[in-house]
Amino acid sequence: MGKSEELMERALKYIPGGVNSPVRAYGNVGMTPRFIQGATGPYIFDADGEKYIDYICSWGPMILGHNGQRVLKKVVRACEDGLSFGAPTEIEVDMAEFICEHIPHIEMVRMVNSGTEAVMSAIRAARGYTGRNKIIKFSGCYHGHSDCLLVDAGSGLMTAGIPGSAGVPEGCTRDTLTAAYNDLPSVERLFEANPGEIAAVIVEPVAANMGVVLPENGFLEGLRQICTNEGALLIFDEVITGFRLAFGGAAEKFGIAPDLVTYGKIIGGGMPVGAYGGRHEVMEMVAPLGPVYQAGTLSGNPVAMAAGLEQLHILWEHPEYYTELEKKGEKLYGRMEELVKLYGAPCTVNAAGSLGCVFFTDSKVTNYTIAKTADTVEFARYFKYMLDRRIHLAPSQFEAMFLSEAHTDDNIEETLEAFEGYLKTRE
Ligand code: PMP
Repeated sequence: MGKSEELMERALKYIPGGVNSPVRAYGNVGMTPRFIQGATGPYIFDADGEKYIDYICSWGPMILGHNGQRVLKKVVRACEDGLSFGAPTEIEVDMAEFICEHIPHIEMVRMVNSGTEAVMSAIRAARGYTGRNKIIKFSGCYHGHSDCLLVDAGSGLMTAGIPGSAGVPEGCTRDTLTAAYNDLPSVERLFEANPGEIAAVIVEPVAANMGVVLPENGFLEGLRQICTNEGALLIFDEVITGFRLAFGGAAEKFGIAPDLVTYGKIIGGGMPVGAYGGRHEVMEMVAPLGPVYQAGTLSGNPVAMAAGLEQLHILWEHPEYYTELEKKGEKLYGRMEELVKLYGAPCTVNAAGSLGCVFFTDSKVTNYTIAKTADTVEFARYFKYMLDRRIHLAPSQFEAMFLSEAHTDDNIEETLEAFEGYLKTRE
């Protein structure tokens, strides 16, 4: 028995399912999760000291690779001054200023502790601002685990094959309407059926929680137009895409200004941070300025701000990183697609820059219904094959691969060799 198996035995006694977030469990691939001892650059080391090329990258935050020295130094320095004060600090002003000065569609921002909190709060602000209750989300998009958003959600719910969660009273989701991704008429129908009642449309501008699904031409522009016409707010959930697809996230990449944006992951540099921001008049609804209440004992925590702000500074100082990430993505996912064709495998590769995923279906995947046709049994076989070759992937068909600045050409070659090896086993 390896160390991970031993740790899992202990964990199962005291932690539900042995993990502190269900997406970490290897249940649906029939294995025991690797317990991680440490990580550096593109590599992660398990409790037995085995080294893997890591494509989870903490589910997105580690865009520069693991354990970078610049971020680490800032964190250590901040720790020396104290871990938390529950009072305003200079670094929170630095963070807010930096975000608002560098992201054109954000005039004011509020820091929170996770992506879940960011989205939950943005929805509350949108409802408070518009005086309307209903929201539209898309099937297969995941926006954290707050009650009203656990409807046809992607990520761990999709992996478990369940549309929602027990413990969420019907009343909490009554005002959540669902539309189909890449299907503007499905959005228009909801607006027609609920005139003057929809506060906001929330979308992952590139969906990355039902596997990776790209917005088709005109989809995001269409949402912008509909929201403007209907007086509803457009919320881009950029928890994954923010500071990844471009510094200004999907909004910059696709040239669309949402009314509100939510961040998480990269903005915390590996610490528990989220943020939501947007135009003055919407953000001025938030307490203590306005009537929308939202608070947090540890929000804007100085150690977390030190990590996040330094990571953002590095990304801003190195715009070439984004070109490099694009190139790495083209190489990895582009070559995967070629291999799929070469071996005639019934797979579809979807990619957006550094995000990508292999669906075990030969259908073009453009929404939740099609994504669900992927063969999860085959995914489990593929996952195990890759893990045996020391490639650390998310243990679910419906999650993304994350490339970081630290991944080398050699890492990518090694991954492609393993991928080709897997395709050969199918022949
Ligand atoms: N929104 C999106 C798009 C996400 O991918 C996630 C998490 N994967 C969340 C919200 C929730 O973030 P957190 O897990 O930090 O609460």
